[in-house]
Amino acid sequence: MDDQKKRRSMLIYVIVALVIYLFLSRSLFPQIMNATITTVDYSQFLADVEADKVDEVELNTGSNTIRFVEKDGEEERIYETTLFPNDTQLVALLREHNVDFSANIPDQSSGIWFYMLLSYVLPLLIFFGGGWLLNRQLKKQMGDDSPSMNFGGGFGGFGMGGLGRSNVKEVKGEETGVTFRDVAGQDEAKDSLVEIVSFLKNPDKYTAIGARCPRGALLVGPPGTGKTLLARAVAGEAGVPFFQISGSEFVEMFVGRGAAKVRDLFKQASEKAPCIVFIDEIDAVGKRRDTGLTSNDEREQTLNQLLSEMDGFDNQKGIVVLAATNRPESLDQALLRPGRFDRRIPVELPDLAGREAILQIHADDVKMGPNIDLGIIARSTPGASGADLANIINEAALRAVRNGRNRVSQDDLVESVDVVIAGEKKKSTVLSEHEKEIVSYHETGHAIVAAMQKGSAPVSKITIVPRTSGALGFTMQVEEDERFLTTRQEAKDKIAVLCGGRAAEELIFNEMTTGASNDIERATQLARAMVTQYGMSEKFGMVALGQQRNRYLGGGAELTCSEGTAQEIDAEVQRLVEEGHQKALKILQENRFKLHEIAHYLQRKETVTGEEFMNILTRDDGFAPKLAAAQTQ
Ligand code: ADP
Ligand code: MG
Ligand code: ZN
Repeated sequence: MDDQKKRRSMLIYVIVALVIYLFLSRSLFPQIMNATITTVDYSQFLADVEADKVDEVELNTGSNTIRFVEKDGEEERIYETTLFPNDTQLVALLREHNVDFSANIPDQSSGIWFYMLLSYVLPLLIFFGGGWLLNRQLKKQMGDDSPSMNFGGGFGGFGMGGLGRSNVKEVKGEETGVTFRDVAGQDEAKDSLVEIVSFLKNPDKYTAIGARCPRGALLVGPPGTGKTLLARAVAGEAGVPFFQISGSEFVEMFVGRGAAKVRDLFKQASEKAPCIVFIDEIDAVGKRRDTGLTSNDEREQTLNQLLSEMDGFDNQKGIVVLAATNRPESLDQALLRPGRFDRRIPVELPDLAGREAILQIHADDVKMGPNIDLGIIARSTPGASGADLANIINEAALRAVRNGRNRVSQDDLVESVDVVIAGEKKKSTVLSEHEKEIVSYHETGHAIVAAMQKGSAPVSKITIVPRTSGALGFTMQVEEDERFLTTRQEAKDKIAVLCGGRAAEELIFNEMTTGASNDIERATQLARAMVTQYGMSEKFGMVALGQQRNRYLGGGAELTCSEGTAQEIDAEVQRLVEEGHQKALKILQENRFKLHEIAHYLQRKETVTGEEFMNILTRDDGFAPKLAAAQTQ
């Protein structure tokens, strides 16, 4: 729930509490509230009695006062006066004038207590009790494992200073039931974690020899690579409880709550030790403290508490703190020193074998048809994370159900790769024939430039079916095997392929469309990286001109050069892209007959496989390009 909603419900709650309070005090204790009591002299009282104005008299022996009521039609007026000592005539006088009278001989103390109870304690109870109920209600709505809001408790803590105890109920010490077998393609990470598992299983063995086991390990890597999964697997392997909390849950509405939560978390953990405390997305609290002008007190307090807890806990018992982040560079240095998160375990994107293994794990959970080749799927998904791959299998299963089959076929898998890469097919977008023609030429342009260059990956598919991502078509290239290095020539070839779409439009229609915007963006990005990061330009040579901002979350490089150099970089980037553009134009010019033929074929069929494409391109009809060199790879 976001802050605004939180604030709004608090406001409503305060208003309701006030209304209830006013209502109660008006209806239950009117005599207390109707405090329009006029104090008069005793002589005035006697005079009023004698004038028959007084209707009721009440003597209060506790305070030695007389309260009397004068009724004037509907209106009632209350007066008070002090009892005149030893006035023995009063009773006779009252009788004579027919006044109702009574004496109130209170048990003084209980009266005052009752008064206090009704007027002060009850409203407070309603106020905080209501807060507590509301808190519970909200928590129920948000589900049990969601972060607590600390609404009523927080409120109470606010007013009374003593109720600041956090409720860390969301931290469950549970056995995860996940093991290393559920994690594929992260063998190095698993190797680093094996020692922690063995320590958790048998802390005594380590303490006997005097070894200090790591208190904490930091899992760093891009999103979706299985960091959370690995942490759970460690707990599962060791068979110990698992306390999970997300960094953002520490940062609370009220200052000081985060620190209390940290304390509570470690208190609970030490009761259940040996166990694992897992702090997900630790960068939310662990950001470097000195950066920026605006400091965040709450976060810093929480971080300080975390630091001191990590120093303080008695590691004999076996508590291991695991944390995950994809922004390691922003973490506070103090977190990373030995004795805290002294181990750093990279969890990188899976390679080809890893991707296939991950696909296999998730394929085991669904019913697969015969003749499934997960290797092809793994090859066509370079750069995909474990979460992406799990998603591909799931999408394939969904497609099988949609088509009324009870097993997943290879087609389902291939199609779901497209869905994950480019989005669902978009049926609502209907292109006119002319637009379809342009898109066909555009995509064929990419494909032919790719096929005619040695350094480009083979084309595996061309399609002009619009996708929900906004793409009107795409050309898919799949490497034969995993590449870890890119040569300068390959980078240049890639820029040319990206320029191939626009080049085809220019060549055939003598026109430009907006369809090339994504190509242009990617070509420029690559060219810029070649100049500023890879040292691949003749002009600057091997000089780093930029610094990568965030390794795991993408994001470009920050220039670290003078303004003058920045201008020269722009010129160099422009030159590189233009070089690719010219090369693409030249290739397409030389193969324009094949371009026409394939584009029209594509326009009719909408999707062309890599094989069909190569068949047309290489068919010897007098226009076939000399592909001997290009097709050896
Ligand atoms: P992270 O915490 O690194 O962002 P998660 O651990 O939450 O990623 O992974 C999300 C999901 O992706 C997991 O629940 C799992 O289904 C799948 N997944 C990710 N990496 C792997 C892997 N290496 N092996 C198997 N499944 C994986
Ligand atoms: Mg995670
Ligand atoms: Zn394009």
